[in-house]
Amino acid sequence: MLLEVSDLRHVYQLEDPVVALDGINAGIESGEFIGLVGHTGSGKSTLAQTLNGLIEPTEGTVYYRGQDIFGEEISLREIRKKVGLVFQYPEHQLFEETVAEDISFGPKNLGLEGETIEERVRKSLDLVGLDYDEFRDRSPFNLSGGQQRRVAIAGVLALKPEVLILDEPSAALDPEGRKKLLDLLADLHGNMGLTIILITHRMEQVARLADRVLVMKNGGLVLDGTPEEV
Ligand code: ATP
Ligand code: MG
Repeated sequence: MLLEVSDLRHVYQLEDPVVALDGINAGIESGEFIGLVGHTGSGKSTLAQTLNGLIEPTEGTVYYRGQDIFGEEISLREIRKKVGLVFQYPEHQLFEETVAEDISFGPKNLGLEGETIEERVRKSLDLVGLDYDEFRDRSPFNLSGGQQRRVAIAGVLALKPEVLILDEPSAALDPEGRKKLLDLLADLHGNMGLTIILITHRMEQVARLADRVLVMKNGGLVLDGTPEEV
């Protein structure tokens, strides 16, 4: 099993505590394309952030290839590289002055093997369909929403993850932009063998791409089945 969550419970400790995850058990195999759906506030983004170690759950844990990601066996640094997360709001992920600096931030900080930073940035931009020479010196803040999303995805791909989690990536994209994004995801899954977890409100995306759909409700997992079943 590539990723496994066991009795996951997360409570945001506010004045009135919020139970965001309430006893989730699930397993994800290498090479799967998972659709993660559910109403607003059901816990999808919280689950996504626990899967790559950004949020340590209140109870339960996440296993990556059998290793407890919050334990001693594997570092969170390693998990951030293996389990790439594209945030729901790309502006939370883009903070450097140029596109190239933003994409190289992860590999520089989490460690890079093999290529030079420039090669890695070039390839990552190429994967998301943005021209390196045209975009490397642009400010991420002056890009269109769709371009920003692509740069955020490129930044995660630059880490060469095994799993790519995308949190509502088609928000604010027009039909053309959505189509391009779905084609990109199909390609990353089909040709590059990435395991993908796509969080979305759009069932038609899940129907087209996912092998399996997980449905969340009030912090729990209420359905786990094929797109036809949900
Ligand atoms: P959406 O579809 O709107 O993105 P979601 O399924 O991603 O929703 P989460 O963002 O995981 O839902 O939120 C789950 C619950 O946790 C909600 O009740 C939300 O208000 C609460 N929550 C989320 N983030 C925080 C936070 N940083 N601090 C406190 N409560 C939070
Ligand atoms: Mg969310």
